Order: sequence, then structure tokens, then C-alpha cells
Amino acid sequence: MFTRTLRKLTVLNSVVVILIFLAFGATLYSYVRSQLFNNIDNAMRDRISSFRVVNGRPEINMRRTIFFDPRVIVLLRDGNGQVISLTPFSSDEVENIKTLAILSESGSLTVKNFAGHIYRVLCLPYPHDENILFRSDGSKLEIQEIIAVSIVDSEVSMLRHLLIIIAAGLFAGIVVIGLAGYYLARLALVPIQTAWERQQQFVADASHELRTPLAVVKTNAELMLRHPENTVEQESARVTNILREAIRMNKLVSTLLTLARADANQLELQLKPVVINEVIETVVEQFRPLVELKGLELSVSVEPQLEMTADRERLHQLLVILLDNALKYTAPPGRITLTCSKLQNQIGLKVEDTGCGIVPEDLPRVFDRFFRGDKARHRETGGAGLGLSIAQWIVEKHGGKIRVESSPGVGTQFYITLPAKK
Ligand code: ADP
Repeated sequence: MFTRTLRKLTVLNSVVVILIFLAFGATLYSYVRSQLFNNIDNAMRDRISSFRVVNGRPEINMRRTIFFDPRVIVLLRDGNGQVISLTPFSSDEVENIKTLAILSESGSLTVKNFAGHIYRVLCLPYPHDENILFRSDGSKLEIQEIIAVSIVDSEVSMLRHLLIIIAAGLFAGIVVIGLAGYYLARLALVPIQTAWERQQQFVADASHELRTPLAVVKTNAELMLRHPENTVEQESARVTNILREAIRMNKLVSTLLTLARADANQLELQLKPVVINEVIETVVEQFRPLVELKGLELSVSVEPQLEMTADRERLHQLLVILLDNALKYTAPPGRITLTCSKLQNQIGLKVEDTGCGIVPEDLPRVFDRFFRGDKARHRETGGAGLGLSIAQWIVEKHGGKIRVESSPGVGTQFYITLPAKK
């Protein structure tokens, strides 16, 4: 499943990078092109505007020339298509350029590929009233158009080279782009794959947890069916078994639902001002008889009137989980201590017991879903291994932190800090 997604993502990433590269190449090419030709066009315009006829003689105002380009050749054309050049140029090019000047259309800027060269030709109507030019041979020319011509072979060749470099860069870079695309795709898939595997594990563990109580219910029901003549009283042990497993399944399913909804971010806290002393008092009242029944000691030390913004029900649930664990994993004559105090802007909660403790290798895993320590494997004492996952979710959802310290055979301490105000 992930191989196909990885392949698709690699292709997608590579296509995106190639498109970015192409867009960059195209922008670079068109920028260089426009810079080169704008300079030439400006130089041609400049040379045209710096020329005028004064008293029948040509006059070139060099002071007006900002973009002087020696490659620009200026020609004058009369109404009969007769052309003269103002710039001396080599005899082999005379004919080419004159032909271009004769052919060019008034008011246009054209690019001509002529006799193996590329020319830019700007032909504009002569704008001044005095337009009769007396030539050295005594003839005169009535100027209609003024034409600037520039050979742009080197610019075109440079642009061609730039295009080749961009294309070569793209082809050479395709392997690198492919590898980078693959690497990025793998990087993007890691959290998805982890979440997917966690989900798979969660479903597998949940099914496994449900299988045992379901098997107990099925076996007990089948055994009862073997003796239909028996009364309920006679079958009370089996009915009790079924009832106990149904209660266990009910608890498990509602815990699973809580975790699933927490994962989907569908569980919101009902935040209200809470006097934490009241919540602790209620929970301790429920637990005290159970603690005494087991022959344990429970000591509670809470600073007076500790207030915080929290979800009262979730806070109650958190304390129940921690005290329930302390009760389950502490043998008589042990002690459970609950301490609560204010530390600057935080409320600090500590649940401590003198129970069996947690072995160091289990410590980092106690908050994992369905994790149960060895001593808790027994179905009767241990739960499904979901209590601390929920406790961690409650604390983190409140913006707090939970950590555990433990020494096997000595006892366990759970430390919780919660922000006093949200
Ligand atoms: P469970 O329902 O099995 O108690 P939890 O998620 O509450 O599940 O706890 C996970 C595991 O952490 C337990 O199986 C147990 O091994 C260990 N544990 C939790 N609290 C204590 C404690 N107070 N003393 C010793 N071990 C504990």
C-alpha cells in the first residue's frame, strides 16, 4: 500500500520540482532576452532621435545619446526607396543592410534573418520639418524615414547558449530531482506510516482484548444450554461470569471509544473554574472504603482552596485512574499518598504508593496503549492497559505534563503539573 503511495508521491514531487525549474529557466531566459534587446532597441531609438538635418547638412547631437552602441547603423530613406547610410560600414555588408533598409516598413521594429546574419531593424518616419539633405556629390535626398539597423548575431548566439545550458541542466538534474523527490516522499510518509501502524496495532489489541470476554460469555452460555432444566439459581455462577465479562467489555468499549474520539480530535474539554479540593474530596470519599478494605493506608495532603480552569469530569477521571492503579498494585500493609499544591502558575499533583513498583525497562512504556506490566498480566487485577493512556491524554489536553518514577519493590510516584489558569 505504501509502496504505491511512495511511487506516486515521488512522481508528484519530481514533477513539481521540474515545473519550478522550468518556470525559473523560462523567467531567466525571458529576462536576459528582454534586457539584451531592450538595450539594443534603446540604442537604436537614441541614435534616431539624435539625428536631424540643419541647413541641408546632417547633424548628430551626441549629447543626447545615452545608449551609444557602435554596432547601430543609421540610414535615411526617401519616398522613392533611395537609401543612404550615415555610418560608414564595410563594403560586403553595404548591400545587405541597404536591402534591409529598403524593405523595412515605416513605423515598425522587425527582426530579419538575412544572408546568414540576424538584424534588428527600426524604421521610423522622419519627424522634423527640414528634411532636405544635400549630399557631397551635389544631389539631394528628401528624407521620409530614418532607419536604425543592428546586427544581433552575438545576442542571439548567447541566448541560444543560455537555452542549451538550461535544457542540459534540466536533463542532468532529472536524476537528482528524482532522488530528491523520493527522499521527500519518504520523509512525508514516515508520520503517516507510523500513525497507520499504530492504528493497526490498536485495532489488533482491541480485538484481542475483546476476544477473551466474548469467549467466556460464549462458553458459559453453551454450558448453560447443555442443562436447560437447571434453574437460574443453579446456574448463578455462570450467569455471574457472563455478567462480569459483559461489564468488563462495556468498560473496555467505552474506553476505546474515548481514545478513538480523542485521536480524531472530537473530544473537547468542558473548561470551567474548578476548586480542585472538591474534586479530590469526592474521589477520596469513593476510594477510602476500598483502600481500608484492602488493609492499606490513604493519606491526603492538599493546600486549601486550590483553583484552576479545567474539565471537572476529566480531572475526576484522572484521579480515579491513578488511585485505582495505586490500589491495584499495592499490597497490604502499604500506603497511598495524594499530594496537591500550587507551584507558581501551576498545580502540582502527586500520587504515590508503596506498591510493587515498575521495572525500569517498563517505565517508558507505561503510557502506551494496551501496555501491561508483567505483574499486572493477571486478568483479575490488571486492567486492559488503557488507563494511563487516557490519563496522559487528559493531562496533555489540559496543557500539562505527566511523568512517572518507580523503584521495583519500593513504590511508584506519578507527578502531574497542570496550568492553574487557561
Ligand atoms: P492497567 O489497566 O493495566 O492498570 P494502565 O495503563 O493504567 O493499565 O497501566 C499500565 C501498566 O503500568 C500497568 O499494567 C502496570 O504494569 C503499570 N502501573 C501503572 N500504575 C502502577 C502503579 N501504581 N504501580 C505499579 N505499576 C503500575
